[in-house]
Amino acid sequence: MKRPVIFCDFDGTITLSDNIVAIMRHFDPPGWQPLVERIGAGEISIRDGVGRMFELLPSSMKDEITQFVFGTAGIRPGFSELLEFCRERGIEFLVTSGGIDFFVYPLLEPYPIPRERIYCNASDFSGERIRIVWPHPCDDECTNDCGMCKTTVIRRYPRDDYFRILIGDSVTDFAGAQLVDLVFARSHLIRKCEELGLPYVPYETFHDVVRHLQTIVKKESV
Ligand code: MG
Ligand code: ZN
Repeated sequence: MKRPVIFCDFDGTITLSDNIVAIMRHFDPPGWQPLVERIGAGEISIRDGVGRMFELLPSSMKDEITQFVFGTAGIRPGFSELLEFCRERGIEFLVTSGGIDFFVYPLLEPYPIPRERIYCNASDFSGERIRIVWPHPCDDECTNDCGMCKTTVIRRYPRDDYFRILIGDSVTDFAGAQLVDLVFARSHLIRKCEELGLPYVPYETFHDVVRHLQTIVKKESV
């Protein structure tokens, strides 16, 4: 029997909105908007664009930025219930995030997720400007220059052994959605799945995800 594994996005999925966009919108360093537009248009990679956006901010703003994220980021309803469901059924749960460690780890602190199952980018505040560090780069099979490469993580769980499930919302999930066995989608990811003709399950809260998994997990594995 295949073992189920969940690859769950962070920004706009576990959190209600995208924290990088929220940070940029709030602190509004000159030049961030064209970078977002160029990422969206596929002119520059996510890694390049995100790296350049954070370089627009001085390292001295670390505390202020961190406080802002804690004050504004909300967690999508049902997240604890999903984690509990995974624990009960022995489903491996990974956070695969294009976000940055200084907000991803603290926001996930209240939840029982081992650190080694949280994949995100890292940060260096030792220089004058914020530098993003990329501990999980693309493998030879990915040419997207992702930064944190979700498909590289997914490929470590071979499809012959695992029933692979992705939960996501946006551009960092597009490539992974094409690899896995089941996609839970909201927002831009729904439009992408429609465009590619990929089957998906729409969700608004993690209660929706649990409800669907209760039927699937019975059928596919355990
Ligand atoms: Mg997202
Ligand atoms: Zn990649």
